[in-house]
Amino acid sequence: GKVLVTGANGFIAMWVVKQLLDQGYVVRGTVRSESKAKHLRDVFSHYGDKFEVVIVEDITKLGAFDEYVKDVDAIEHTASPFHFKANDPDELIVPAVQGTTRILESALAHGKNVKRVVITSSVAAVIVVQSTPRTYTEADWNDGAIQLVREEGAKAPNPMKYRASKTLAERAAWEFVEKNKGKLGWDLAVVNPPYVFGPAIHEVGAPETLNESMYDWFHTVFKGSKTKEQLSSTGACWIDVRDLAEAHVLAIKKQEAGGERIIVSQGAFKWQDFISSAQRFYPTVSPGDETYDPAKATHMVQYDTSKAAKLLGIKYRSIEESTKDMVEDFKARGWI
Ligand code: NDP
Repeated sequence: GKVLVTGANGFIAMWVVKQLLDQGYVVRGTVRSESKAKHLRDVFSHYGDKFEVVIVEDITKLGAFDEYVKDVDAIEHTASPFHFKANDPDELIVPAVQGTTRILESALAHGKNVKRVVITSSVAAVIVVQSTPRTYTEADWNDGAIQLVREEGAKAPNPMKYRASKTLAERAAWEFVEKNKGKLGWDLAVVNPPYVFGPAIHEVGAPETLNESMYDWFHTVFKGSKTKEQLSSTGACWIDVRDLAEAHVLAIKKQEAGGERIIVSQGAFKWQDFISSAQRFYPTVSPGDETYDPAKATHMVQYDTSKAAKLLGIKYRSIEESTKDMVEDFKARGWI
């Protein structure tokens, strides 16, 4: 089969492309400019004509993807801004929502072979942060972020702008499917990951230019960007980028994933968990909060991942496995 991957130069997408190619798919990746295509072509050169890159300058433009969906069997839509630097929320919301709508419109109008569209959403579209610990499921929607950003605009906290963009984009996708019921030759599967960590194969010049989640990981573990107190009291849930890439491939392969929103997560962490693990592979890392006891940690947010287990059956890498590979990656880059 042939698969279109949007935003193919991204941290997550590069691994999705790699696993698709390794499993025998032919892949077409989209990037925004020629300068972003070179690294991709270099990394995947040994797959020969099984891989190509095309330029879609503006994913919000009507018909942007029309030409590129015509001969593909499936689509993985990952392109969407992920950063906490936007002042105007529309900087995130417009490309997130319109990019999603454009790919679905193209798939409807021109994707005559398309059987499955997979969209990379996020738990940002799921969680509603509250003051007591809670396990969230696919039934939860972060409409609170949309509400808050509608009320506060540019004054809303930056993470809320990102969460609103992901919630609005995923809502738009499901609404598109509902509105066009009966006209679609394909179905939709949505993958909702938490924080994504792991070694990088996308183009990264310097630590400062890492994607948002790996920027946080690298600066927390190796650059002391958090206080001792924060290390043992703050965290989130996470998944290794390679397990998430596998989930994307399985979301194409598994018939039963059609029509489903699927949370994938290895589990909850406090930042100190990664530091303690990094110490095993890089003993000179600053020890952080040595009084931390993982058994006593309270995790405010956890996810019920039984749907992913049933539909996709992925096995998750542990904090140790993932940390070991990240440490090796950063050593090889000469950053630590
Ligand atoms: P990256 O920043 O590495 O990749 C983002 C991709 O989206 C790049 O290809 C980027 O292209 C593209 N993109 C960003 N803004 C725009 C825009 N305005 N128009 C067109 N393309 C754009 O991040 P990730 O790999 O981490 O993110 C990929 C997806 O995964 C996103 O949808 C993100 O929301 C989601 N996600 C990520 C998580 C994480 O922890 N990393 C957690 C949960 C979900 P360019 O290089 O040209 O900017």
